[in-house]
Amino acid sequence: MSKYKRILLKLSGEALAKGADTIDVQTLSKVIGIIKSALEQKVQLGIVVGGGNIFRGAALAKAGMNRVTGDHMGMLATVINALAIADACRQAGIEALVMSGFPIGGGVCDPVDHNKAKQALDAGKVVIFSAGTGSPCFTTDTGAVLRAIEIEADIVFKATKVDGIYSADPSKNPNAKRYQTLSFDQAIENNLQIMDTAAFALCREHDLDICVFSMLDNKDTLSAILSGEPLGTICSK
Ligand code: UDP
Repeated sequence: MSKYKRILLKLSGEALAKGADTIDVQTLSKVIGIIKSALEQKVQLGIVVGGGNIFRGAALAKAGMNRVTGDHMGMLATVINALAIADACRQAGIEALVMSGFPIGGGVCDPVDHNKAKQALDAGKVVIFSAGTGSPCFTTDTGAVLRAIEIEADIVFKATKVDGIYSADPSKNPNAKRYQTLSFDQAIENNLQIMDTAAFALCREHDLDICVFSMLDNKDTLSAILSGEPLGTICSK
């Protein structure tokens, strides 16, 4: 059983993609497996999902689009991903609720409401937060920290392609050093790119730990960490 009561899991949009498929059914079902085993550890689970498998505002702006419009498209992409995860959760017998950082009508999803989210979590539902912070020029990493603060999560788990935080990108620099733990000051001073500075600064201000772990391991690393294995990197105050 987990020592954490309530966690916020940050998934990038790419965690759902495979090859040419923006949302790959088998990859999605792997994500549902991770969600299921986290719930078996008796944690309450909030999720923030990114949209990078569909659109990123910065890339659209580079191609000539207005940045704010590109960011709106990026945030809408996160809503698409959240709906896909919620649907797959429900098909697996897991109750799920999608909330959006800006209002969307038509019964698509609810607006973010921290009280309603906490009630749903207490009732055992998975709450999937979409549209990041709801404002352009931010990332879903910052959105994840913001929602974690709102739901009073004990920790943010950020799923990545690497098994922790490194001093440099390990895919480019073979001398990159892996940290077991590090402080937010270190992460910000060294400009470590694993999360943006706004996300680290918000965590530091609210004394909220982040655990960075690999989603590409053959084992279910999140569940292993929840049951006490010292995997991933913990960034704290
Ligand atoms: N985005 C935004 N505000 C937010 C969160 C996201 O404008 O608070 C936009 C931004 O364009 C971003 C895109 O949504 O590039 C997708 O989010 P992100 O890049 O964080 O997704 P991830 O890399 O986690 O898949």
